[in-house]
Amino acid sequence: MYKFKQSGDTYVVSINNHQEVATALTAFCAEQGIRAGEIHGLGAVCEATLRFLDPVTKQYVDKTFREQMEVSNLVGNISEKDGKVYLHLHATLCRADYSVVGGHLLSAVLNGAFELVVRKFDLKLGRRFDAETGLNLYDFPG
Ligand code: FE
Repeated sequence: MYKFKQSGDTYVVSINNHQEVATALTAFCAEQGIRAGEIHGLGAVCEATLRFLDPVTKQYVDKTFREQMEVSNLVGNISEKDGKVYLHLHATLCRADYSVVGGHLLSAVLNGAFELVVRKFDLKLGRRFDAETGLNLYDFPG
């Protein structure tokens, strides 16, 4: 699903072609025992589902784009929720006409390459649902 090299708390990751990026990254973090950290990367995909949270209705609006796109930037963080790896990913996707779409990334199908750097934090980072915002916020004490 992926290949990687590690140096200390830093991992260089290459996801295998045709994989779903969020699934592969979640598997990578779970299998390498990374429960807190940060992610950045770039690549190319042929499909991506983005999510937008309407802050008034607190309803999610998901939209799938089925076309070849360059991922000019994927940024994210790693934490834990209910004992499982929880990724929060955002991406900017460049279309063939050089326009961009972007937002919260739910899933994306790799078509080409996807290269990332993951940095592990020596921390425990939990999350809990916040009714006011409708978001799973960091569960920091106080
Ligand atoms: Fe988000």
